Amino acid sequence: MSDLNRRSFLHSAAVAAVGVGAGMVAGRPSMVSAAQKSNASKMKITEVKTMVVENMKPYRGGRYLLFLEIVTDEGITGLGERITGNTYSRNLVDLKSQVNLIQEYGREFLVGENPFNIEKLWDRIYAKRHDFRHPSLHATPVLSAIDMALWDIVGKVCGQPIYNLLGGMYHEKLRAYAYMPGRVTPENAGEVAARLLDEGNTVCKLDPFAPTYPIPRDIPLWEIERGAKIFESIRDAVGNKLEVGIGAHGQMTTYSAIRIADFLEPYHPFWFEEPVPPENVDEMARVAEHTSIPIATGERLVTKYEFSEVLEKKAAQIIQLDVGQCGGITEAKKIASIAEAHYAMIAPHMACGPIAAAAAIQIDTCSQNFLVQEANQGPLHKIIFKEPMVFENGYITPPTGPGLGVELDKDVLKRLIVE
Ligand SMILES: [Mg+2]
Repeated sequence: MSDLNRRSFLHSAAVAAVGVGAGMVAGRPSMVSAAQKSNASKMKITEVKTMVVENMKPYRGGRYLLFLEIVTDEGITGLGERITGNTYSRNLVDLKSQVNLIQEYGREFLVGENPFNIEKLWDRIYAKRHDFRHPSLHATPVLSAIDMALWDIVGKVCGQPIYNLLGGMYHEKLRAYAYMPGRVTPENAGEVAARLLDEGNTVCKLDPFAPTYPIPRDIPLWEIERGAKIFESIRDAVGNKLEVGIGAHGQMTTYSAIRIADFLEPYHPFWFEEPVPPENVDEMARVAEHTSIPIATGERLVTKYEFSEVLEKKAAQIIQLDVGQCGGITEAKKIASIAEAHYAMIAPHMACGPIAAAAAIQIDTCSQNFLVQEANQGPLHKIIFKEPMVFENGYITPPTGPGLGVELDKDVLKRLIVE
């Protein structure tokens, strides 16, 4: 190595180290030159903007979607999304408290800070607000939205997709699934399954027991038998070629869940999702102890602490973290690693708008223990980015662009933005 080359190599390494930690960076020349152009160590956040967007029918991910944009003094911006599916978002007014929370966190914790200091900023928000340190789907999704926007900035500065900063592309394409379409009955289930298989899908899901109240409830024998007949019809039509998960939305008593598992075991469901409500981990562990069907949970859990408990108590082996709710990309990567240490897989939840979906895809791509991605997409997901992310024939292809790898189409956004 010549002196000149050695000097420029050392300078590049120093810039990378200031940015996201030298050990985590795939030191490609394009990244290095992008990092050199940006003064990463002195970069500052100047503003946090919010956008409320009206979704398109059938409103997959919520009636209204709430995006944020973190702006820096270098003009590089990062996108985030506060998932609205768990708010009463049929009414625009209901999102006001979330918009206010984003703006408040922006003013108090972000403006004037370096967007590269993600761990520090995450921890400062988490440690300083009383709303955290207990399960909260009020505050943690806001933190998640901020976190994904910070990673988007870091990726753009480095000229790399986020997955390249978190271990690289482990999966070149991502196995994905959605609900079986339409109303699935014992009469049509086989036909629907055969069609999904034909289209290239390897996984799907259905809720054989229609969610109703009270929760948890006793599931009567006739309903359990009907569920078993749906599975029988699927297996008759496609054999074991299609994995089929059972969705349950936490609606069963522990004994009903165990009884259902016993009935459905012969059809080898891929998983039994939230068989009981998620807050009593010991009861979910009791279901897991009684069945060979893998238990899945996580769409209503937040932070490494709640997921650790699930894994330590052996309550589930398929972890359905939601990157937009659990604490963002930073926390999702840690949760995936905790799951990996328990030989468990991640199957991230997705019932959100397009930006949180893009964040999930970054985590999937770089996670060794990625199993399958839920992919609930509506028409808006297909038009709002300049280059839409495509879920086709059972797979999603990770984007290769920097950061989250997506760019909003300003003309489409202008049409849909309401506030
Ligand atoms: Mg679910």
